[in-house]
Amino acid sequence: MSKSMEQIVALCKRRGFIFQNSDIYGGQQGFWDFGPLGTELKRNVRNAWYNSMVTQHDEISTPAGAPSPFQMVGIETSIIMHPNVWKASGHFDLFHDFMVDCKSCKSRFRVDHIQTRVLADAATQAPVACETYIVDVENESGLSKAQQKRLDKAGNEYGKPTIEQTMSLDNYLKSTGGSASAPVAHCPACHGQLTDPREFNLMFKTTIGALAGEEGTAFLRPETAQGMFVNFKNVVDSSRVKLPFGIAQIGKSFRNEITPRNFIFRSREFEQMEMEFFCRPEESFEWYKYWRDRRYKWYADLGISKDNLILRDHAKDELSHYSVGTADVEYAYPFLEQGEYGELEGIAHRGDFDLRSHMEGKLVRQGDELVVEKDENGQPRHRGSGKDLTYFDDQTRERFVPHVIEPAAGADRATLAFICEAYTEDEQPDDKGSMQKRTVMKFHPLLAPVKAAVFPLIKKEEMLGPAADLYRELKRAGIASAYAHQGAIGRRYRQHDEIGTPFCITIDGDTVDKGTVTIRDRDTLEQDRVPVDKVVETIRTRLDNYVV
Ligand code: ATP
Repeated sequence: MSKSMEQIVALCKRRGFIFQNSDIYGGQQGFWDFGPLGTELKRNVRNAWYNSMVTQHDEISTPAGAPSPFQMVGIETSIIMHPNVWKASGHFDLFHDFMVDCKSCKSRFRVDHIQTRVLADAATQAPVACETYIVDVENESGLSKAQQKRLDKAGNEYGKPTIEQTMSLDNYLKSTGGSASAPVAHCPACHGQLTDPREFNLMFKTTIGALAGEEGTAFLRPETAQGMFVNFKNVVDSSRVKLPFGIAQIGKSFRNEITPRNFIFRSREFEQMEMEFFCRPEESFEWYKYWRDRRYKWYADLGISKDNLILRDHAKDELSHYSVGTADVEYAYPFLEQGEYGELEGIAHRGDFDLRSHMEGKLVRQGDELVVEKDENGQPRHRGSGKDLTYFDDQTRERFVPHVIEPAAGADRATLAFICEAYTEDEQPDDKGSMQKRTVMKFHPLLAPVKAAVFPLIKKEEMLGPAADLYRELKRAGIASAYAHQGAIGRRYRQHDEIGTPFCITIDGDTVDKGTVTIRDRDTLEQDRVPVDKVVETIRTRLDNYVV
């Protein structure tokens, strides 16, 4: 079944999953609010992650040695950190994109999102024209059909005897170096003149206290990870964890994305679920593979079909300067072309880059080595904390800097993937037996915002009373439940199918006479009769069967 983002976005708004932020004022681009059902769904996503990583984590066999339990602990660090954290980590200097604006239509583009096709004269090889088009980074193939047409037309103007070369605007500008004879790259939207590329740091700036100017400047964190690195020593000293161990955190991050888009896929305020796993350097590759596979399985276990989910290893030239291995878990979001995938989570082998940066200062690559970057006076460009962040292994009596494996996931991108995957349309007979289109959100029961809905079949006291009692009993047992007595029963089923409630319980004549109710399964539509005093236990057992 093909699903469109329009249908999904409309359902999210209609049923209270996700709203545009500041909607009544026309919205604020790149920011989103979660409505009542979206809040529950996202909370369930976060809980599933935290349970898998920390609370229910019970792994005792390590891939790289004798079986022994390893510890996973949580942490909650603040959104604003000391500005030097971002200087040492490299975000202050490196966490930026280049952008250009169109002087005519005022469109703003990321330079690396504009692709150029340079046409050169076949005889002289001199460039004669430069066509631009927008590469949708979430759609690597880049060209929409309309853009393709425009491009073909432009290409034809120069006839066949041309040589063409395709490269990003970034590379085109570098290769021409501002030469006056080079064809000008125009706005891909309106052909207007583009400004020179301007550097744009993605970190949101704010001011601490009453100090204006540089001294008071601080940043909203663009990732949660640094909270774990700067607290590495605090955690080791206070909780006496031994290598290997992980520190996990869920929290808000902020990036001033130049082009936020694709619903909650790329926004300016979002939530991350990150874990830093510290281990011995010689065991790090085994751990990298372990986390990479385990994180892929988490999405699959929670209902994402393997047809829509891939684990993609980064090519060498895609790796960050510190990473010795990275893989992305990617999902086939409906806003992408067939065969395209968007990042859900990155699992990176970060070596000792982060702990060393916070000890020594900002690191840069020099050949195979990471060395402290120096300024023109030979001094460290950005100093680290100067604190000792090494680990002492009391068994082997060695002191060393642990290596780090980082699975970094986005709670919003995961929630969006679960929503897209769950969205299903089918046809079912209505109360009168005629076929009706049904929209059903086939959420994994652990993620479903409402687990059970209680319906008295008709509005009669002998049914309303037991229904209300059962609803309260479910709630007291901690099972997210709803109660609805209005409208035809078929309509109530359909309303709950549309929000993904896995179990609908109906109180009917047999409840009054025999003390039984029906439990209807959202996906199979089968109805089981169960004694009313066994409902909580039955639902609990069914939910427990799904634990991942
Ligand atoms: P992208 O290449 O898509 O910009 P990234 O590689 O910069 O993402 P990371 O820095 O690895 O992302 O962040 C880890 C995770 O945080 C991502 O896999 C994604 O799930 C989430 N994330 C990052 N940026 C955003 C954003 N702007 N909106 C929503 N989620 C985000």
